Amino acid sequence: MTQTLDVVFLGPPGAGKGTQASGFAECHGVPHVSTGDLFREHLKNETPVGLMAKEFMDRGGLVPDDVVCQMVRERLEESDADRGAVLDGFPRTVPQAEVLAGDLERMERALRAVVHFSIQDQLLVERLAGRLTCRGCGAVFHRKSNPPRVEGICDPCGGDLYTRDDDGEETVRSRLQTYRDATAPLLGWYEKQGLICEIDADRSIDAVRTALEKAVEGR
Ligand code: AMP
Repeated sequence: MTQTLDVVFLGPPGAGKGTQASGFAECHGVPHVSTGDLFREHLKNETPVGLMAKEFMDRGGLVPDDVVCQMVRERLEESDADRGAVLDGFPRTVPQAEVLAGDLERMERALRAVVHFSIQDQLLVERLAGRLTCRGCGAVFHRKSNPPRVEGICDPCGGDLYTRDDDGEETVRSRLQTYRDATAPLLGWYEKQGLICEIDADRSIDAVRTALEKAVEGR
């Protein structure tokens, strides 16, 4: 078994997984693999995967497991993921988690930790409603709690910031319901394997970052 830094970031939409995943991945020299970002990239390029995923994304539902799993498998086989990857938004169902476990095993790897970003529901709608995403690099800001230096412009890459189509209140509610129904059961599944690290995500970006490093350190 190779010792890699393969970690899963698990939590509801708006918990701050993406923001933390990009910083953590950069600091540890492994790629940040966000399935949502990969689908948005496919959609921008109008690929068949992107056009198909759009149907599910617009409704706040989940793209079928086989499509997501194949996309992640190919991503993990790229050479920059040799030392591990931060998986953000994947797996989102128990069947996806089973496929991931099999794929990692074939690659002689295993998950180091599953970080659970725990946060109260009522804060999520507020967070998502103010969220701004960069069209260029996918970086995430918030109108109030984490504004860009220049309005409408991404700090790291200078790209345009926009509100994601699925960050509207109605779609946010169905995304949260999808999380409760399909994704929350993963917590118990990973708990049994002793992989869960709990993080209180209702804190500042820096405080969550520190807690995250501590939780994964020594695993
Ligand atoms: P995210 O950026 O993680 O909020 O993902 C945006 C949307 O992409 C989700 O609401 C789903 O429709 C789709 N998606 C992302 N990751 C997955 C996944 N692991 N399984 C199924 N659908 C996904």
